This record gives sequence, structure tokens and C-alpha cells, in this order.
Amino acid sequence: MTEPSATVIGAGIVGVAAAAFLQCEGYRVTVIDRLPPGEGCSFGNAGGLAFAEVVPAVHSRMLLKIPGWLMDPLGPLTIRWSYLPRVMPWLMALGRNSLPDRVRAITAARADLALRVVSDFETLLKPAGAGGLIRYQDTLRVYDNEAQYQAEAAERATKNALGFATPRLSGGEARELEPALGDNVHCAAFHGGWYFVTNPERVVKAIAAQVVRNGGTIMADDVLSLAREGSRVSHVALRERGLHKVETLVICAGAYSHLLARQLGEDFPLEAERGYHIVLPDPGVALSRSITYARTPGVATPMEMGLRLAGTDEFAGLDAPPNYKRADALWTHFKRVLPALRAPGPDATRWMGRRPGTPDSLPVIGPSATAANVWYGFGHGHMGLTWGPTTGRLLAEMMTGRNSNVDRAPFRPGRFA
Ligand SMILES: Cc1cc2nc3c(=O)[nH]c(=O)nc-3n(C[C@H](O)[C@H](O)[C@H](O)COP(=O)(O)OP(=O)(O)OC[C@H]3O[C@@H](n4cnc5c(N)ncnc54)[C@H](O)[C@@H]3O)c2cc1C
Repeated sequence: MTEPSATVIGAGIVGVAAAAFLQCEGYRVTVIDRLPPGEGCSFGNAGGLAFAEVVPAVHSRMLLKIPGWLMDPLGPLTIRWSYLPRVMPWLMALGRNSLPDRVRAITAARADLALRVVSDFETLLKPAGAGGLIRYQDTLRVYDNEAQYQAEAAERATKNALGFATPRLSGGEARELEPALGDNVHCAAFHGGWYFVTNPERVVKAIAAQVVRNGGTIMADDVLSLAREGSRVSHVALRERGLHKVETLVICAGAYSHLLARQLGEDFPLEAERGYHIVLPDPGVALSRSITYARTPGVATPMEMGLRLAGTDEFAGLDAPPNYKRADALWTHFKRVLPALRAPGPDATRWMGRRPGTPDSLPVIGPSATAANVWYGFGHGHMGLTWGPTTGRLLAEMMTGRNSNVDRAPFRPGRFA
């Protein structure tokens, strides 16, 4: 019997994970990307295996902060005003998903996805010889004052109830653990079990290299369109190579996935939630774990290439030019709690990436409603590094008709119809 074959569009964390898990099920895989593996959004994230982040970022208490943030063009959230009419329906859907009953349902689904994040990562990274990229250190969240800490009591209670412990530390205890923290840190709490990786790009490249060692193909090309024959996609049209025949197609094209799905008559509310990073190769401070700061969303992560400060959310569409002042603003925010942080020198690097965001803070994982041989894995928003390997496993389980330990209904592609 000939082995089944699958073509995966996208060599980000989700696409390479899907390819690797499909190989475990006996598939011959080809991954197509116009960029080298791990050079889309998966390149520059904060490296957080943030599986304990079960409560979606936008909930009713968080909504109250948004107007203030929007007043500051370099604040944690911005919308380019010319883009507002385009993004409005998505923002309204986001608002509906911040109501308490929706937040409860979304939290349960996110908690389900968290179950095997670490073991799915290890399954992919250890055979690739890259297990050392994971650091098993919980992230520390730091607070300026008691009010800030108490304002997050409800989220901590939810996490704790789901088994993610968030022990509190005094400012002094936090400084003992991380001496780079300033005297103004009032208190801190662990995140409930985040780990981190020291180079997200290398994570993806290592998995991609293992896919190739296992007989897979990585093809550098741009998918221009999908060609249908009856109820199936028969070929993808590539910029360089022309028509490429497909047996099964898996679309993991990050923030561009909806453009491909639209060709199959399926409409997904997917927005590019643009985030930034700045990397300081010589930051003047040493951290043994990543930290987040309650005053401003963002993460400071010690990585192989230096200290990476990453975060913020900008709605401006896929193609608007980056505003790197937003990357520099991350430095200003973290300087408040890391007083010895050196100013960015000429060796600092800045980056912008497009998170593939759905309005319900859940990814799309499952079969196409209109094409019998097409599967989707995209829409991981702020959590794509964390959930990428598990998504790959779930796709492989679904495609081979196997049961899984996760209720897959909340991720079904048809939920937006
Ligand atoms: C600043 C920032 C910080 C973040 N921090 C974290 C974090 O700490 N933890 C976490 O879990 N997540 C984090 N994220 C989110 C995470 O990085 C993303 O969710 C994840 O990288 C998405 O992976 P992906 O594989 O879906 O997309 P991508 O990595 O973007 O991969 C999709 C690929 O598809 C390719 N592609 C698209 N269309 C086509 C086409 N037509 N033809 C050929 N190729 C195509 C693209 O070139 C791209 O390489 C962060 C994101 C940002 C921006």
C-alpha cells in the first residue's frame, strides 16, 4: 500500500508541528513556505510556553483598560485609525466573547489545550536534538503596588482552580530570585507554570530539519491559489514551480490563512494582531527566567541572542509598514522594573510579527466545510508557540480518525458561520 501524502502550507511552528506529527502517522509530507522555516510570526515571539494562560486576554475587567491604552499611540494596544472600519466587525465579535459565559467556555477550551503542551514539545524537540531549548522555569509576574496585584485576583483564582498554582512573593523575595528587579517591585507571583524557549526560530528550524531527516520535503515557494476538482483541492499553484499536485492539504499559513480559505468559499474572521520585539544583546541585567509586568502587557525573556522584550498589539492590517517606536516603547516599560537595563545600542534589533488572531482567542483546528481533502490549523493569536505542537498532534489525530484527549468542538472551523 502506498503511504498517504499531505501538503502543508506554512512552515511556522504550527505547520512544522503538523508535518512532524503526520509523519508519525505514516504520511509523506511536503511543507511549502515562501520564507525559510520559522521566519514568519514564529521567528520573534517572546518564547513563552504560556500554557497556564487559560483566561483569554480580553475579558470584561480588561475591557475597562482599553480606552486608556488607545489614547497612547505607543501604548500596549493601538489601532491605526484608517484601519478602524475594516477591523470593527472583528472588535465587536471580540467584545461579545468577553462576556462572562463566553469567557468561561473559552477558558475551559484553553485549559484543555494546555494539557499536553510540554509533552508535545518534548516529543518534537528531543528527537530533533533540541530539547535543551526549553527552560523549565516558571515566569514571574511583577507588580508596582497591592491594587495592581489584587486587580488580578479573579484570573489567579481561575488558574488555581484549574491546577495552575500562582504563589505570591514579596518584593524582597522576588529580588532574591531575580536580583535585576528594582526596589519599586512591590510583589510578584508565578504564572502557574509557564516555561520558555531560548530561541523560538531555532525551535521551528530544528523541527523542520527533523521533518527533512524523516523523509519530508520543505519547499521554498509562494502559494498563489488553490485549484479545485469537484469537492477536492487537486493542486496548489506555486509562483516558481507552477502546479503542485496535492492529495491532502493542510493550511497553517498563520495570519494569511483566511486568504487561502476564502478561495474555498470559507470566511474566517482572522486579524493580524501585530506585535513587536526589541533584542538587547548586552542588556546590562541578567534574568534566569522570563518576567511580565502587570502595568503593561509584554514579556522580557532571556534568550540566546540577548534579552528579548516582546509584546504589544497593533491593528493595522497585514501590509502596513511597521512602527518600530512600539518596539522601543517596550524598553521604556521594562526599564521601570529593571533599573540597570542598558539603553538600546547600535547592536539592538527590532522586529514586527503578525499574530493570527481570532475574536474568540481560540485557534481553528479541523476540516474544511467545503473541500473534502483540506484541513485547517491557524488562528493561535498570542499563544501559537505554546499551542503549535499540540495543534499538530490534534490535526494528525483527526486526519487519521483517532480519538484525542481534548474536546475538539470549541476549535471547529465552522463556529464562525
Ligand atoms: C511580539 C510577539 C510575542 C509573542 N509571544 C508569544 C509567546 O510568548 N508564546 C506564544 O505561545 N506565542 C507568542 N506569540 C504568538 C506566536 O508567535 C504566533 O501565534 C505563532 O508564531 C503563529 O504560528 P503560525 O505557524 O500559525 O504562523 P507563522 O509563524 O506566521 O507561519 C505561517 C507561515 O505561512 C507562510 N505563508 C503564509 N501564506 C503563504 C502562502 N500563500 N504561500 C507560502 N507561504 C505562506 C508564512 O510565510 C509563514 O512563514 C507572540 C507573537 C508576537 C508577535
